[in-house]
Amino acid sequence: MKKSPRFETLVVHAGLDPDPSTGAVVTPIYQTSTYMQEQIGKHKGFEYARTKNPTRSALEKALALLEAGTSAFAFGSGMAAIDAVLKLLKPGDHVLAVNDLYGGTFRIFDKIYTRYGISFSYAPATNVAMFFEQVQENTTLVWLETPTNPLLTLCDIAELAKSTKKHSSPPLIAVDNTFATPYLQQPLLLGADIVVHSTTKYIGGHSDLIGGAVVIKDSDLAEHFGFIQNAVGAVPGPLDCFLSLRGLRTLALRMTRHAENAFVIAKYLEDRQEVEQVYYPFLHSHPQYNLAHKQMKNGGGMVSFTLKGGRESAKFFAERTKVFILAESLGGVESLVEVPALMTHASTTESPLEVDSALVRLSVGIENIDDLLEDIDQAFKR
Ligand code: PLP
Repeated sequence: MKKSPRFETLVVHAGLDPDPSTGAVVTPIYQTSTYMQEQIGKHKGFEYARTKNPTRSALEKALALLEAGTSAFAFGSGMAAIDAVLKLLKPGDHVLAVNDLYGGTFRIFDKIYTRYGISFSYAPATNVAMFFEQVQENTTLVWLETPTNPLLTLCDIAELAKSTKKHSSPPLIAVDNTFATPYLQQPLLLGADIVVHSTTKYIGGHSDLIGGAVVIKDSDLAEHFGFIQNAVGAVPGPLDCFLSLRGLRTLALRMTRHAENAFVIAKYLEDRQEVEQVYYPFLHSHPQYNLAHKQMKNGGGMVSFTLKGGRESAKFFAERTKVFILAESLGGVESLVEVPALMTHASTTESPLEVDSALVRLSVGIENIDDLLEDIDQAFKR
């Protein structure tokens, strides 16, 4: 029996099929909108680039393999990927979502899809049994982030999938795997039905593109996403697909280094007197430390913390770092800092998902750890 390659090998080789016309090892950027047909309907598998593009196909093949799915669909942004999932729903459907979410996800739920007769409710998913009690007759989708953005709370995907499957008409489970990436956890193997990514983040890894993806393991769902991708057309261009693939090759290396740095920083922050609370899944103080070790390969590169000085201190801190760049987004090689309540999660203000304004979120990069610690130290001193 052929042994399947380990993740570190797979991530380098997945979807890497030498170009049939030239032998080029890396799939080129097929910058074309259309493809010649020898006769009507007789072509090489490509007709029009909204429907299919070889650079995009290479990325999709790689993502499907890495997430242990059967197919993947690339989109022009993480939000476009989330939108494609929501297009599975019909008026009257209900979505049960975890109560700590990326602000843009809450916004599309709350400001767009409620207008089409879909209802949403939010509950903590830390206790799976209690979360599952919130499933209603008309719940057709359960939406998870694990770890969540920005509080790095986890949900036991396998446990939830087990409970859900016992339901008379089980809702689909979608997991936004942006923070963890398939290197840390593969939700489809744990029983989830749909994995969503903002490939803008760790998959691309270099803060130079916007992209998204959906990965699934069921052929009916594949038909839906293939149809939506073509019918709606929120597809990424070939250059962004190329960059996503180029970044993806080093995912295992980067995630290892991100997590090493993030763990040191999380421990350091716990000892700072200015800090109220640190959120990092692999810290002993994290309430789901055991689940984190069961479900994730490492703690990832995101660290959040609250400051005793409140909103003004958080703002002041984020504006004083030098190596950590004050910016939205995450998952790039460079370290970033932000205040979610004022930036990425501003859309949750005055909602049940409102984020503490004393919270600072760090996307810890792959720089030398001493430079990162010195930067945090000088920001506190200032
Ligand atoms: N999901 C998560 C967890 C995110 O953090 C983000 C963006 O920050 C998105 C989805 C949306 O992705 P994009 O910005 O690529 O549309």
